[in-house]
Amino acid sequence: MGWTFVSETHEPMQKLLLPYRGKEITNREWDKLVKEELVKEFGSRAQYVHASDHCSNMKNVGACDCAKTGRALVTRVRRGRPSYYLVL
Ligand SMILES: [Zn+2]
Repeated sequence: MGWTFVSETHEPMQKLLLPYRGKEITNREWDKLVKEELVKEFGSRAQYVHASDHCSNMKNVGACDCAKTGRALVTRVRRGRPSYYLVL
């Protein structure tokens, strides 16, 4: 997925994450939020937008331009199944 589309999801995702600021969420909780809310606005391709695409300490190929910057939405705190992310 291209970074331009992923970057379009940045602000809507930031709004969805407001209630979780300062808390940890799992990648499963992120995916649930995406499926229940983001897909309504952006269609099914939004289901492929992952926490790791808006992350302060990692940068995937095709990630949002916030990756590894102070604008990132989350920091990955624990890797695994599930992975944990701190909402910034
Ligand atoms: Zn972003």
